[in-house]
Amino acid sequence: MNKEMLNQAINEAPMFNGAPMDTLKKYLAECKTHRLQSGQVLIAPGEQNKFIYLVLSGSLSIHLDNQKSPSIRTVKVGGTVGELSLINSGKTSAYVISNNISNILIINRKSFWSIVNKMPIIARNLLEILSSWIVATDKTTLEHQRHIQELEGIALVDGLTGINNRRAFDNMLTRFLNRSTYGKHPLILIMIDVDYFKIYNDTHGHIGGDQALIALAATLRDTVRPGDFVYRYGGEEFAIILPNTRLKQCRNVAERVRQAVINTKIFMPDGSPLPSITISMGVAESILTENSEVDLKQRADKKLYEAKESGRNKFCM
Ligand code: GH3
Ligand code: MG
Ligand code: MG
Repeated sequence: MNKEMLNQAINEAPMFNGAPMDTLKKYLAECKTHRLQSGQVLIAPGEQNKFIYLVLSGSLSIHLDNQKSPSIRTVKVGGTVGELSLINSGKTSAYVISNNISNILIINRKSFWSIVNKMPIIARNLLEILSSWIVATDKTTLEHQRHIQELEGIALVDGLTGINNRRAFDNMLTRFLNRSTYGKHPLILIMIDVDYFKIYNDTHGHIGGDQALIALAATLRDTVRPGDFVYRYGGEEFAIILPNTRLKQCRNVAERVRQAVINTKIFMPDGSPLPSITISMGVAESILTENSEVDLKQRADKKLYEAKESGRNKFCM
């Protein structure tokens, strides 16, 4: 065995930090070394592991899922692998692959426990190493949870306007209706459709149309109360849910929204002004006996159709 290599690895090994050198070297001198080629698999998942490997030169990387998946940890000179499966006598759970030509020291189970029994500081070091993994794993889990939450958030937001989308609408309407049925608090659904939007698009282009939808969404969002919810239902259709509201209370709201839309300024991305748009609205109040969101939606749509038929730029309830 190359003594210099071993000395360097021991000096850098967190596992052997503070252990008496002479005793340690005596034990480790009896262990075999092994040379790994670049890309060689040292450990594969599901194997019965009998050894701890100390990296003497080169480096190893650990891959959880498969050999090609991103490495979760690199083990450099002085680092060890195999501790966990050796301690719990269990099966290995990851791939350990040599990144380049690496030399490793193979410490078998019996020698390892003799070393630990002789030098308790190594048991302490091992605890530190294992707990640092737990902390790292917890961090990764937290990051994954945040990532999932972020993706869920993206899935509920409309890419063009930044307000909640149809999927969010469906989720929320079901939840609000359950609550309104049990709690006997009715809610109002307003379905909104932009008037003559096809002509607007044809006249000002798809980009102009998009700008109008972005401006409309911002106006709707800013015009309702903080407890009300605005959604892009699809295309040029939007929806507002007003929880705990009765029909007679929302006449003012609908009129305020209609006016706000007329007064909304729309601009092309280069800043040149575009004409304003108008909307038609259908308003419906949830009924206690009716527990299907489909019925409520249909009644609001029917009123929207009435608003369109009777001249547009208005609401019907
Ligand atoms: P009405 O007053 O009866 O609602 O007439 P309308 O022209 O608004 O209705 P129609 O359903 O014929 O046309 C809707 C138009 O909305 C057609 C479609 O190209 C446009 N549109 C839907 N989604 C988008 C979008 O994301 N961006 C743009 N620019 N246009 C859209
Ligand atoms: Mg439409
Ligand atoms: Mg329309």
